[in-house]
Amino acid sequence: MAVIGAGPAGLMAAEELARAGLAVTVYERMPSPARKLLMAGRGGLNLTHGEGREAFLARYGAAEPWLTPMIEAFPPAALRAWCEGLGEKTFVGSSGRVFPESFKASPLLRAWLRRLDGLGVALATRHRWQGWDGDGRLLLEREDGDALHLAPDATLLALGGASWPRLGSDGTWTEILAARGVALTPLAPANCGFEHAWSHHFAERFAGTPLKRIAIGFDGMSVMGEAVITREGLEGGAIYALSGRLREAIAAHGPQTVTLDLRPDLSPSHLAARLARPRGKQSTASFLRKAGGLMPVSVNLLREVLGELPAEPAALAKAAKALPLTLTAPRPIARAISSAGGIRREALDDNLMLQALPGVFAAGEMLDWEAPTGGYLLQAAFATGVAAARGIQRWLGVEQASGEAGPK
Ligand SMILES: Cc1cc2nc3c(=O)[nH]c(=O)nc-3n(C[C@H](O)[C@H](O)[C@H](O)COP(=O)(O)OP(=O)(O)OC[C@H]3O[C@@H](n4cnc5c(N)ncnc54)[C@H](O)[C@@H]3O)c2cc1C
Repeated sequence: MAVIGAGPAGLMAAEELARAGLAVTVYERMPSPARKLLMAGRGGLNLTHGEGREAFLARYGAAEPWLTPMIEAFPPAALRAWCEGLGEKTFVGSSGRVFPESFKASPLLRAWLRRLDGLGVALATRHRWQGWDGDGRLLLEREDGDALHLAPDATLLALGGASWPRLGSDGTWTEILAARGVALTPLAPANCGFEHAWSHHFAERFAGTPLKRIAIGFDGMSVMGEAVITREGLEGGAIYALSGRLREAIAAHGPQTVTLDLRPDLSPSHLAARLARPRGKQSTASFLRKAGGLMPVSVNLLREVLGELPAEPAALAKAAKALPLTLTAPRPIARAISSAGGIRREALDDNLMLQALPGVFAAGEMLDWEAPTGGYLLQAAFATGVAAARGIQRWLGVEQASGEAGPK
């Protein structure tokens, strides 16, 4: 059994397959496995989310109908139990996000690799999958330039998307599969920042500065959270949550305008009343900070967009509650948290086998789904890994795994 790609999807599939008694080798192009999982752990490994079933599944948007059975077969509770089985207790944070108690990915990955080793899973790093040779065998290139030609009983591709390519997933598989007649949606940035041409002065002074506790509105949706001014535009959680809609609107109609609410906790009249207080001898910046709770970055953002600050409190409050900002393009996919697009559902059968390539299965971020940050990405990567492994077992006619990886 060949699993290609040692990320969460590939390793989870390898575990399931090994538990079913199958001999599994995981091939990975990088010198070590699961680099993106480790990177995800840098800011706190958000494994999944604790919200209710319906709200959870709705996060997968257009992919919800076909991902649902796979996530139900390996739901958030099973993922948490799996993590705890590896010695990493989990907890639900105040936002509903689920983390291992250590917050990190490295102890979890270490324990997981030990378990996989114990199950007999072989890991071949520095092996880059290149497609198939003229005889239909898998073609892998080793770092020393030698080629490996393999004819496993089944192959699972779990090669990830195209974000953060230096961690291993570079999306080059799209050309190989497209040439074999596999229907693909082009990979596109998801959970990404967007570009806006700031003045030189504003970018110099405020790049890297967070806009805390704001709301960003677009297309009838408003997201509370944080955004960060960058030299190129805006990054951060609040804009990531709108990134799918924004990306599609920009692709269809060109630049789009979002509205920034710099004081989402106050109504316009409440903010106007505060801004109407006597200013005394205070400078504008200090008055707006003290009376309106507007930080220097917010005041300068108002100036950057409006030119001059409206003198009238009601007009200023209105602007601070709905500041229009035009975003011209998503930031490149290499800088996105995840990828949208990939292998289309209709290119797969119910076992996650490629219709065009019998015996070749796919899982993880290389499938055509997208989801916001919050643990939904890893949940779907793990769940599709489990689903593909079970699909392989059904296709091979072997018994389903019994063990801790998922509910049976
Ligand atoms: C900075 C950052 C933070 C994140 N934080 C979170 C988070 O907190 N919560 C969350 O849910 N998600 C998070 N994600 C997203 C999550 O990490 C991914 O969705 C997940 O890793 C996808 O799993 P995968 O197994 O499908 O692909 P990947 O993890 O990308 O693994 C694919 C593997 O395939 C290998 N590979 C690719 N091509 C080849 C080839 N030709 N030959 C051999 N091997 C190959 C790659 O080297 C890689 O090891 C984060 C992502 C980033 C970039």
